[in-house]
Amino acid sequence: MKIITEPSIYLLAKQEVDFNQLQQFLDDHEVSTWETDTSVAGEILAEVAGRVCYMSFAKPRPGGNEAYLEHIKQVGHGSVLEHAVYNILITGVSRSFTHELVRHRAGVGYSQLSQRYVDESTADFVVPAIIQRLQGRAFEIWSNACGAAQTAYCELVEVLLESEIELEYQQYVGTNMPLGMDVQSKDAWIKSLSPEKKTELRKAVRSAARSVLPTATETKIFVTANARALRHIIEMRGNKAAELEIRRFAEKLVVLLKQVSPNLFGDYTFGEQGVETPYRKV
Ligand SMILES: Cc1cc2nc3c(=O)[nH]c(=O)nc-3n(C[C@H](O)[C@H](O)[C@H](O)COP(=O)(O)OP(=O)(O)OC[C@H]3O[C@@H](n4cnc5c(N)ncnc54)[C@H](O)[C@@H]3O)c2cc1C
Repeated sequence: MKIITEPSIYLLAKQEVDFNQLQQFLDDHEVSTWETDTSVAGEILAEVAGRVCYMSFAKPRPGGNEAYLEHIKQVGHGSVLEHAVYNILITGVSRSFTHELVRHRAGVGYSQLSQRYVDESTADFVVPAIIQRLQGRAFEIWSNACGAAQTAYCELVEVLLESEIELEYQQYVGTNMPLGMDVQSKDAWIKSLSPEKKTELRKAVRSAARSVLPTATETKIFVTANARALRHIIEMRGNKAAELEIRRFAEKLVVLLKQVSPNLFGDYTFGEQGVETPYRKV
């Protein structure tokens, strides 16, 4: 049983601007002098989207993309930030964490590891920070409970699979025998089951057995979100009122996003309240 203490965040993709198309648009609208000073596609796209609203390409205010997006945040014109999109794979998090994360619906897409399809007999567990810090007796109680739950899960899978197979086999015998058909031995019948049927049986069994697994069970979730939605998640979950695991994630995400998109996320700082910004919920 592996114990995980920290989430991993993988930023899997970056947007790409088609500069030929952008130039074509600028030329067609006699504003070909406009140019950008950032190489971050999401930042360029958010600015272009914002400038389209007022067709303000001809005489941009000084300060470039950074000043432009700062102004957008200041005035709360957050919808233009929806054009910057991030594909993020998160691993090493608990199912409590994802239960909280998926409450964020607007501007976010999710794909999470299925406990119905995936065998959890070797799953890892995410230790809550306070238990990790205390170690000693608290850690012992926690890790014993996770271990016992995993053992129960494995036993349940075995017992349930056996009884489901027996039930299906009896149905097969009951249908075929009265018709005078040749009835296969149980072993031969199991071997003859289609891959789809085997998957269906395992899925039914794992669906029931997972009910004994703790919310500390490690999971993986693929998140696609726009910058506006991510800002809201960061502000809600990076706050000191938020639960620790998701708060640590939000902090880690801020550090990453400040690096890859400084003009969209550079206003975030770490303060007494957690992650802070002068521009909340743009
Ligand atoms: C510290 C903390 C404690 C919490 N405790 C609890 C709890 O005890 N119980 C509980 O159930 N939840 C709890 N939550 C979850 C919380 O209530 C929200 O569900 C979660 O934070 C998602 O945020 P959101 O509603 O802003 O949704 P998001 O999907 O992130 O939406 C972003 C914004 O879009 C707008 N929006 C989205 N959907 C709609 C809609 N359908 N209609 C109108 N506007 C919409 C809203 O302005 C919303 O703020 C907690 C959250 C935090 C941060």
